[in-house]
Amino acid sequence: QSVLKGGGKDPYKDWKPGEPVPYAALCTTFSLVELTSKRLIISAHCSLFLRQVLRLTPQDLLPTIQLMINKLAADYAGIELGIGESLIMKAIGETTGRSLQVIKADQNEIGDLGLVAAKSRSNQPTMFKPKPLTVKGVLDGLMGIATVSGDGSQSRKVAGIKKLLSAADASAAGKGNQGIDISKDKGGASETKFIIRFLEGKLRLGLAEKTVLVALAHAMVMHETQQKGNKAPSSEKLAEGEAILKTVYSELPSYEVIIPAMVEHGIFHLRENCKLQPGVPLKPMLANPTKSITEVLDRFEGKHFTCEYKYDGERAQIHYVAEDSPNQYPSVLPTAKGSKGLSAIFSRNSEDLSKKYPDVLAKLHTWVKSETKSFVLDCETVAWDLVEKKVLPFQQLMTRKRKDVKVEDIKVKVCVFAFDILFHNGESVVQKSFRERRDILSNAFTPVEGEFAFAQYGNTSDLDEIQTLLDESVKASCEGLMVKMLDSSESGYEPSKRSRNWLKVKKDYLSGTGDSLDLVVLGAYYGKGKRTSVYGAFLLGCYNSAAESYETVCNIGTGFSEAILEELHAKLSRVAIDKPKPFYAHSAVPKDQPDVWFEPRFVWEVKTADLTLSPRYVAGKDSLTDGSGKGISLRFPRFIKERDDKKPDQATGSRMVVEMYQKQEGVAKTKGPSVDDDF
Ligand code: ATP
Repeated sequence: QSVLKGGGKDPYKDWKPGEPVPYAALCTTFSLVELTSKRLIISAHCSLFLRQVLRLTPQDLLPTIQLMINKLAADYAGIELGIGESLIMKAIGETTGRSLQVIKADQNEIGDLGLVAAKSRSNQPTMFKPKPLTVKGVLDGLMGIATVSGDGSQSRKVAGIKKLLSAADASAAGKGNQGIDISKDKGGASETKFIIRFLEGKLRLGLAEKTVLVALAHAMVMHETQQKGNKAPSSEKLAEGEAILKTVYSELPSYEVIIPAMVEHGIFHLRENCKLQPGVPLKPMLANPTKSITEVLDRFEGKHFTCEYKYDGERAQIHYVAEDSPNQYPSVLPTAKGSKGLSAIFSRNSEDLSKKYPDVLAKLHTWVKSETKSFVLDCETVAWDLVEKKVLPFQQLMTRKRKDVKVEDIKVKVCVFAFDILFHNGESVVQKSFRERRDILSNAFTPVEGEFAFAQYGNTSDLDEIQTLLDESVKASCEGLMVKMLDSSESGYEPSKRSRNWLKVKKDYLSGTGDSLDLVVLGAYYGKGKRTSVYGAFLLGCYNSAAESYETVCNIGTGFSEAILEELHAKLSRVAIDKPKPFYAHSAVPKDQPDVWFEPRFVWEVKTADLTLSPRYVAGKDSLTDGSGKGISLRFPRFIKERDDKKPDQATGSRMVVEMYQKQEGVAKTKGPSVDDDF
């Protein structure tokens, strides 16, 4: 408790039991979080606040969590704000009566629209005191802004933002914080500041979703202990609650489902009440890159493993419940079928792809054996050549429309290659060994040529045989192999983890860095000669999840056709911004600056010869101990494709870049843990 004192601020002062959670109270907690970078203290502040919510207004726990993690809904709901700086500036201007020019000048000086808005609002005379905002009210307001569509949606979004801003407190630093200098960007509890930052998609508090999850578990354990009349829970109990919530969330990543169940049944009964369920996509298990087959053999020495073809298509998680299944599940999706039965397809990102693959959904029941009543499948959809009866390159798949596809209009047929099963006939099977899951999978379906197949594999640990499998996979238009642990507890399905029990061996990278990188487009340079009307080169960055920043890693101008450059110019010019975002880490040297900066929106896959140190870029700089002050950079980067199935914060992490750099021969080791999962 002593570390949580925040200069006499009392976040709970105006908040009575049963009353909606005041938004000002949450903002005070945010401001306390902002003052520290210590994860334990951040977690303690959040947990203290969540305990108050549980004690006073438990029905507001869900909106509180949503505002803390900067997400309006689970990913599968497909609700995104996607509001650019210009729209936000317009709303700030119209609410506060300041001109766009003045706001832009402020933004240039301060570099944080949240603070610019707080400053603008504090200069505004207030005629009347607005009704205090509540957490639920703010979330509803934001949801309204996100879901506006159709004619005039831009101006209705601006109107929605204005409504929230007019109701937010007008003091720049927030209630009770008048002494705080907002230009220092720390500690102000201004409602305006946090509303704007939410709209921008970054609260900039160092408040990772994982930390909020841990804080929630601790708050719940403490609340339950207190309710039983005991003072404080033991550290074992706290750890047990944390482990339960983490496991449940990894299998059922939906606060909308988990929170009401947890409040009703208690955290220690959560496992029985919240299990993997069809209709709620889980984050897929991911693989670690390798550079050679011998690296695979070293890692899996003495273990049973299997080598599967690595198909080059789009990851798809297929959820299905037959109409006559004894277990039915409440559907959370508008696209899934009615009250009985369900079929839906989700992307790697948990985005609902059902409208992209109506052909797959229409055929699904014909591949399912009659005794199979429900399942969740992990698979890859791959473009299929009906004449030659073989897999087509990934580029063909990309030509399919993403939305509102009509079965009769489909030109590129797909074949589904299934490689794992996570749920079968009413039961989660993620904890079973891969050998058992593979048996379940092969017994539950009947393959149909060109429509549904099991991923091809060989169970061998012989180097020459693996090499042969690799060559054959490439001949069959695959990218290489996925090598997976087959037996033992280590071979369970690990949702959302980049696991060491799955290794990818890509043909292309065997002698290079081991993998391509997925990088965020941060800026661009105008082209020369023929290319002056488009961008000719781009500045790319990787994502540092600990610092919540994008770190520059290379310039790229190779691998683009003229047509692609035109397309990219049209797309990117829409997200151009005047200044780099405050969470971009980049060189300060004037000659290294791009001509244009962008919002972090687009992710590209990029291939590289190798990684090297460079003073122009900052990727991984803080974890390198070589004293050079240089960052890591890509040599001879080449554009491969756009990755619209990845969000910017799912780009290759700085830690991964550091690891890839270290793995190169002759590179000295660096500090820092080598952890990487896509929580
Ligand atoms: P990552 O998912 O590792 O961040 P990525 O999305 O770029 O990277 P890859 O590096 O190409 O993907 O490798 C993993 C992907 O390979 C999986 O997400 C899946 O879509 C695909 N894949 C194809 N065949 C298989 C298979 N047999 N087992 C698992 N994944 C497979």
